[in-house]
Amino acid sequence: MVVTQTLEDRIAALREETPGCAHVAHFNHAGSSLSPQPVLDAVIGHVTLEATIGGYEAAAAASDRLNAVYDSIARLLNAAPDEIALVENATRGWDMAVYAIPFVPGDRVLTTQSEYASNLVALLQIATRRGIEIEVVPSDANGQISLDALGTALDRPVKAVFIAHMPTNGGLVQPAEEIGAIVRQRQPDAWYVLDACQTAGQVPLDVERLQCDVLSATSRKYLRGPRGAGFVYVRRSRIETMEPPLLDLHAADLISATDYAIRPDARRFENWESYVAGRLGLGAAVDYALDLGLDMIWERVRRQADLLRSRLDAIDGVTVHDAGLVRGGIVTFSRAGIRAEEIKEALAGERVNVSLSNIYRTYLDPEQDALGRFVRASVHYVTTDEEIDRLAGIVGALQP
Ligand SMILES: *Cc1c(COP(=O)(O)O)cnc(C)c1O
Repeated sequence: MVVTQTLEDRIAALREETPGCAHVAHFNHAGSSLSPQPVLDAVIGHVTLEATIGGYEAAAAASDRLNAVYDSIARLLNAAPDEIALVENATRGWDMAVYAIPFVPGDRVLTTQSEYASNLVALLQIATRRGIEIEVVPSDANGQISLDALGTALDRPVKAVFIAHMPTNGGLVQPAEEIGAIVRQRQPDAWYVLDACQTAGQVPLDVERLQCDVLSATSRKYLRGPRGAGFVYVRRSRIETMEPPLLDLHAADLISATDYAIRPDARRFENWESYVAGRLGLGAAVDYALDLGLDMIWERVRRQADLLRSRLDAIDGVTVHDAGLVRGGIVTFSRAGIRAEEIKEALAGERVNVSLSNIYRTYLDPEQDALGRFVRASVHYVTTDEEIDRLAGIVGALQP
């Protein structure tokens, strides 16, 4: 007899395996998701082992599993394990790679209106220190990067192109593969840096198809891993041209009293000291996502996000703000006459978690600037139709 499990049964089982689902309706997966039990077991198990036998001894005992974390991330990205560095978070991974790009004064770099604030801060600092020129490629009528404008901008030499695959403040998913193809065609040597912080664990990622040189991501968002962990991928052919902005005895070997040699692999971007339990949790989270399948996850996330958008759209005075031809798990909305903060409070009172989309994260997007703050409700595959109805019901019942 063949027993087929329906998707609903499968989601119910996945929720069963996520302790937080019993306590909150979580619409903040883009902030920090709820970890499933295998991730919690990996983290708590290792912390317990450290307390029992000692931190260094626990790391030695876990060395095979720690090495396997690189293999898991490499599989997630279709990369090689020596192209992966494990770091504290997405921003630091992005920084370690981007500050190591051999910029010279006058280099042009391209970014988008939806650049992440931390990345923009870093680019501004690099502009001041090293004389690069930042150009913002405008969005098209759909709200995604204008591929025409990108093509035109790439007619002249460009050192690097920076794209946030899915910006933090809305459902937009940028056409990252098309961008990669245009960059490679027009400026084959340009660096293509993809911030995949919101798409890792949500969207299938393949660095060969993306044709990116650098890809950064965090553990705690759509991958559902612990906080305080992240990774950066750097293409092998680029690694040895990059001098990390910071070095230690793990990133480089001291070979004499006056000489050191930087590691040849991506671990030159790492720290010696690290949150070992967090790395193991990240590895468990990546394995969990790979077991489920990124195609299934991406399809389910889009379905739940579209359902939420349609429920919100049906409420008087509610506007859904997500731009883009392809929209992922982040849903942003506002309701006329009620401040986003009040909506968040009302939902929190019913144990429905959302966050706010802040304009300070972007500044390069004039439309967001004018509109102010939105509620950001981000779904994942564990989000149920019933939770979506609950959120929409609470928002609909608020009195302006
Ligand atoms: C959250 C986020 C980041 C930063 O991730 P951290 O792990 O907090 O450093 C970067 N880019 C985007 C698009 C994000 O949403």
